[in-house]
Amino acid sequence: MSSVILDQPAEEQTAAASQPKKSKKREEREQIIAKFHKEHLHWGNVDWVVLIWMAGIHIGAVAALFFISWQAIVTCLVLHWATASIGICLGYHRYLSHKSFKLRAPAEFFVLLCGVLSGEGSPLTWAATHRLHHQKSDKHGDPHSPFEGNWWSHLLWLFVYRDKELNDKFADHYIPDFKNRPMIQFFEKTYPLWLIGSGFAMYGIGYAMGGNYMGWSMLLWGLCARMAFVYNSTWFVNSATHLWGYRNYETTDQSKNLWWVAIVAYGEGWHNNHHAHPSVAPAGHRKWEIDITWWSIKALRAIGMAYDVNDRIPEKHAEPEVDPEPGKNGILVTK
Ligand SMILES: [Zn+2]
Ligand SMILES: [Zn+2]
Repeated sequence: MSSVILDQPAEEQTAAASQPKKSKKREEREQIIAKFHKEHLHWGNVDWVVLIWMAGIHIGAVAALFFISWQAIVTCLVLHWATASIGICLGYHRYLSHKSFKLRAPAEFFVLLCGVLSGEGSPLTWAATHRLHHQKSDKHGDPHSPFEGNWWSHLLWLFVYRDKELNDKFADHYIPDFKNRPMIQFFEKTYPLWLIGSGFAMYGIGYAMGGNYMGWSMLLWGLCARMAFVYNSTWFVNSATHLWGYRNYETTDQSKNLWWVAIVAYGEGWHNNHHAHPSVAPAGHRKWEIDITWWSIKALRAIGMAYDVNDRIPEKHAEPEVDPEPGKNGILVTK
């Protein structure tokens, strides 16, 4: 691992003085990263909560085909956009993981709530895992590189069990800038309740509209089918966009721009652009690279809810961005 690059000479001196402490920190970080390696996926170390949840959601998505109603399908589409584009792409990814812009409190609350309702994990664990992905992208230590197996990168990596203590330390290292924020802690602590509550709410609203059939229809489409679609779209960003597509920038990883993932994942398919310039809010850097999530960021800026937006589109073939520490925009340079 390279030495940390700092701008200020005074900070260089501080860094040198605290070298032994830093080494210990790095050692702990390496131990955490090791827990993401593929060899930790075996029957003795399966996260059964995640496995059973994922199986249940996918079974529910198939069952939804037997409980069709137009009201439930519309709910599914609206919540798909709200949780995937606003919650994951805008909230967990571009805001939390990369700090491409800032949000005023009401918008931050709404965006994080949408992220929580996606069922993709608590805010800190999601963002820390994603920053690790940028740090180690397509190298040993990347939590979900397709070069360790397509199915591993698509979903199997999610089934490795890691205890709460490790996840806490992981957040300390990879997302210290957000870790102690009260709103973030609120969602960390209440995360499962939102998911369970949203399931009851879906059934309850449906039941009130049209009895038992409509209750199941709303639950299966509004939660199960919607989540199954969102999961697979997000997972294609981890798998497909590191395998297929074209590149605008020469990054050290294998990230690619893939049009069909950009459609199903609301702009995140322009993944080579994103890996080259993670702190830039728009993911589409060419005219044809449509990025639906960017439209929402612009809308939030227009009403004053988003500010300090990094909308600087890099020049063609510009050198990829670098960041010496995780926590700034999610990248840690290794040489
Ligand atoms: Zn990637
Ligand atoms: Zn990213």
